[in-house]
Amino acid sequence: MKAAVYGGPGDLVIGEAPDPAPKADNVIVRVRACAICGTDLKLFTVGNPRCKPPRIIGHELVGEVASVGAEIEGLAVGDRVTVATSVSCHRCDYCSRGLENLCPHMKCISYDWNAGFAELMALPAAVVRGGNVIPVPADVADTAAALSEPLSCVINAQKIAGVKPGDTVVVIGAGPLGCLHSEVAKAYGAHKVILTQRSAARLALARKLRGVDVVDVSKEDAVEQIRARTDGQGADVVIASAPTAASQATALQMARKGGVVSLFASLPQGNSAIEVDTRLIHYGQISIVGASDSRPCDVRDAVALLQAGKIDTKTIVTHELPLERLLDGLELMRKREGLKIVIRP
Ligand SMILES: [Zn+2]
Ligand SMILES: [Zn+2]
Repeated sequence: MKAAVYGGPGDLVIGEAPDPAPKADNVIVRVRACAICGTDLKLFTVGNPRCKPPRIIGHELVGEVASVGAEIEGLAVGDRVTVATSVSCHRCDYCSRGLENLCPHMKCISYDWNAGFAELMALPAAVVRGGNVIPVPADVADTAAALSEPLSCVINAQKIAGVKPGDTVVVIGAGPLGCLHSEVAKAYGAHKVILTQRSAARLALARKLRGVDVVDVSKEDAVEQIRARTDGQGADVVIASAPTAASQATALQMARKGGVVSLFASLPQGNSAIEVDTRLIHYGQISIVGASDSRPCDVRDAVALLQAGKIDTKTIVTHELPLERLLDGLELMRKREGLKIVIRP
């Protein structure tokens, strides 16, 4: 089969690889689409000690079940599925509290098992039994279904931030995840969604999203604009979806009293300390929350939102490329051209 095999930073070879062997305790999936994640680009440029090469990477995938091992229950040949990438132990304290995404024994598809930048992939029994294989209804297109995993991370974050009907939500950064945040906030009933962005190319894409107020922060002061657009109050929820210290610091100034700031994007290791005015937090009773990864239940919710047509995937998926052009796709991401890039193996 065709596959992209990762050997370490700068080493990603697209060529022939052996087909995964059907076994009694696995499921073989024919990959129909697999989106490129920001973490794939990080893996390619700087690496990640959790990923054990040689490894076929790519975790934002949708596929069709091609064979089902004798020991596997609940799946049939022809089923369309996506996967919740993070496979937790189901035994630890975090798992028992419903925080499977924080499980210290977590294994990941594309780090510990081969994944979706290939024509075929094997899902081991542990992944199936853990509830990580999620059905995709026929009316959700492949390119849309490939967004299930990033969308699930956004959903996890907005559940934690408590986005609710009537809220004003500010999203800082109109990258692919920022655009998904805007769509999810609307789906959760936000009365007003304001998206801030600096680069002209991404501003143009963000303006295609319906019902989203876009602020060009290359021309206007972000905090002033948010105040002006919220009757001087600030937003109920501010989501920092740009990986910069400045955006995290300004997020605090955009929140209303009693509001919530979600630090969704992570800052680079060794460069993640920021200065905050704690008086804003204290007197404003502002909550600052984190969010990392997602759980199978969030992926199910993501598929449901996609099926309900709540997410403008046509705007957010800007490129579809064959597997042979995966390196071009990574280069587009590095240059921040377009939004989501979907590979069709
Ligand atoms: Zn991802
Ligand atoms: Zn666990």
